[in-house]
Amino acid sequence: MAKTKQFKTESKRLLDLMINSIYTHKDIFLRELISNASDAIDKRHHLALTDDNVEGEDTYEIFIKLDPTNRTLTIKDNGIGMTEKELESQLGTIAESGSKAFMDKLEEKKDIDIIGQFGVGFYSAFMVAERVFVKTRSPYSDTGYLWQSQGEATYQIEKTNKETVGTEITLVLRQDDEETEDDYSTYLETQTIKELVKKYSDYVRYAIKMDVEKTTKDDDDNETTEVVTETLNSMTPLWKKPKSEQTEDALHDFYKRQYNDFEDPLHTIHINVEGLTTYTALLFIPKKPPYDFYTENYEKGLQLYSKSVFIEDKNKDLVPDYFKFLKGLVDSADLSLNISREMLQHNRQLKKIAAHLEKKVKSELEKMQKNNRETYTEFYDAYGTILKYGVYDQFGANKEKLQDLIMFKTRKSDDYVSLQEYVEAMPEDQKHIYYATGSNKAQIMNLPQMDAIKEKDYDVLFFTDDIDEFMVQVLNTYQEKPFKSLKQSEDDLLDEDKKKDLENKEKDHAKLIKALKKSLKENVKDVKLSGRLKEAPVCLVSGEGLSMDMEKVLNQMPNQPGMKAEKILEINPNHDLFKALENVHSKTPKKIDDYAKLLYQQALLIEGYDIDDPKGMSDMMVKLMIDASK
Ligand code: ADP
Repeated sequence: MAKTKQFKTESKRLLDLMINSIYTHKDIFLRELISNASDAIDKRHHLALTDDNVEGEDTYEIFIKLDPTNRTLTIKDNGIGMTEKELESQLGTIAESGSKAFMDKLEEKKDIDIIGQFGVGFYSAFMVAERVFVKTRSPYSDTGYLWQSQGEATYQIEKTNKETVGTEITLVLRQDDEETEDDYSTYLETQTIKELVKKYSDYVRYAIKMDVEKTTKDDDDNETTEVVTETLNSMTPLWKKPKSEQTEDALHDFYKRQYNDFEDPLHTIHINVEGLTTYTALLFIPKKPPYDFYTENYEKGLQLYSKSVFIEDKNKDLVPDYFKFLKGLVDSADLSLNISREMLQHNRQLKKIAAHLEKKVKSELEKMQKNNRETYTEFYDAYGTILKYGVYDQFGANKEKLQDLIMFKTRKSDDYVSLQEYVEAMPEDQKHIYYATGSNKAQIMNLPQMDAIKEKDYDVLFFTDDIDEFMVQVLNTYQEKPFKSLKQSEDDLLDEDKKKDLENKEKDHAKLIKALKKSLKENVKDVKLSGRLKEAPVCLVSGEGLSMDMEKVLNQMPNQPGMKAEKILEINPNHDLFKALENVHSKTPKKIDDYAKLLYQQALLIEGYDIDDPKGMSDMMVKLMIDASK
């Protein structure tokens, strides 16, 4: 008895799209089905070596059969097949991988043309077929199943006889349409199929075979026609082909198809090592991180092959977290095929490969940073944050490795500057590497503390990423130069005369300062006169330890409530406002409390904080304005 089931909503949408596709490159359905067949063989091949319940085959192959009389095209493989459950979950819903990413992209771009660049998967069969049959048998099932659908709302599944493990997909091709010039009959011609396989699937590692008629003439011109089985593809994976065939186009094409991207990669790294460890790696850096790149859900990893035979899809041990943007594969002759996942983790060869790979990637990035800053900037915009996490992670265990890849925009430069470049440009008398934290350039440039540093003509790194200041705590120094926040104490920026001058002023205004401290004792640790403020009346600076910006970040995170930074209020003694304070203090000392609170709220605003008590602040301002008009 056949069971009728509904497609899941998302599948339905993709199916509609395929069926009503006005897309001209319908050819790609063949590539998609062959690539599924090849994946299925990969899986069986690997399981046969690692799972006693799965028996392997002597030869793995994909067979294409054309039947013009019945208008059918069949693609048969001896791969892993599907159980009844899998048929439902894999073909009834959109699989996580290619098709899902494709749908998301399509929603975003509304561009039908990207179909050709994507792995759209099984449903692409409905671009050319009015009905699709999938006859399949899994080694984990004692019977075969037949799935069929006309691509409408439903599909059917029933038991069927199938002796061998594997899958057979039969497409009943649509009728040609003269009006739209849609010619589906072409897929019943040997020549078309030969060309399509050569064009799209030549690299597939398993033989793609087809029976073809060969006509030969003897000496008397008598024609004889016989049927011979031909292998249509060269079966050499791209990374094993001669260098001359690994053109940029071919590599980009491979990347897009294999890793479901619709854009060319930003950079390709090809590694070929022979010696104690022998391996080939083909690595790609995607132009953009996937939407879930910075979440826990993102799975890093490289495909792993042994002698061109697939072992694992996402081997996590091959890439460190801070290079998790890498896509690609590693093929090594040093790994045995029947190695299980558990054993792989402790495999010494694999560890060596991973270590070597990391070095290569690092030096490749350094080269790019040096010789091709434009591309490196694009790379850094996309992945800089993950490198910074790499420095911060594990208490800085990898900081030496990564610190030179880190860059910042600065007060003097709208282009990124590396730490090395910053230090090289430091004036003789500059002892620290200065940084300032803020949400953007404008906000940082407006910091009251900026004035003094401008006068010194020191450059300042802009910390606009949440991680930046945390990372710097771990770095501590670079080339023995300590990092210093612009928002910390100013001692190092003041010369002796200025320090003396301040001390005297603090003595002269001791009473006022004491009064301000008393008013603000809940809010700040200290109130000081400032030697660095030029235009601004006040600023807030951080004391020792946790900075105010780090406090902001920590308070956004769950389970970190109430982390407090020490705050110090600095007042500009040369500002008219300071004179006004002195006036108020001597005439009506009671009023100083309101003035102090207002000053503090103002300083918070300049620092980009929310003020504690907007209503209170507004009331005080109103009062002041009324007073002033009297
Ligand atoms: P994708 O290949 O991107 O996962 P598809 O829509 O092409 O998406 O296929 C969905 C799933 O159906 C595959 O992941 C696989 O599990 C299963 N499948 C498709 N074709 C075959 C096949 N020939 N043999 C076994 N399983 C298959």
